[in-house]
Amino acid sequence: MPESKEKKSLGILALAGLEPYQEKPGEEYMGEPQLEHFRKILNAWRNQLREEVDRTMNHMKDEAANFPDPVDRAAQEEEFNLELRNRDRERKLIKKIDKTLQRIEDDDFGFCDSCGIEIGVRRLEARPTAELCIDCKTLAELKEKQMAG
Ligand SMILES: [Zn+2]
Repeated sequence: MPESKEKKSLGILALAGLEPYQEKPGEEYMGEPQLEHFRKILNAWRNQLREEVDRTMNHMKDEAANFPDPVDRAAQEEEFNLELRNRDRERKLIKKIDKTLQRIEDDDFGFCDSCGIEIGVRRLEARPTAELCIDCKTLAELKEKQMAG
């Protein structure tokens, strides 16, 4: 859907109404101020997704059974199926955000799952649920492509 694409290009930071994080000289990576920054981003993102899920569910309830004409109904069903797929994706994303918030609490956030280096503030602002550094991510994607043939 073009609408959700536009939202994505806006960026999660803008969506949360936050400015890019300004690191102070010598500041500890993933110290409390940075963790708080990402907590805010993740919470705002999750709220926005939840609202979207709720809105569609209400919209679908309102519209359901409003079309006596079978052709209209078929078109409506198709639209609903698409919506449901989107909602499914959003629910999975919400779960991932929950998991990431838990990583913040566990002091596990911001470090690559594979090699342990810092993922980096800028990369995390663009992709707060990232669990791999850019190198490991690139490698993982290459491997995936090779497996796919
Ligand atoms: Zn890595």
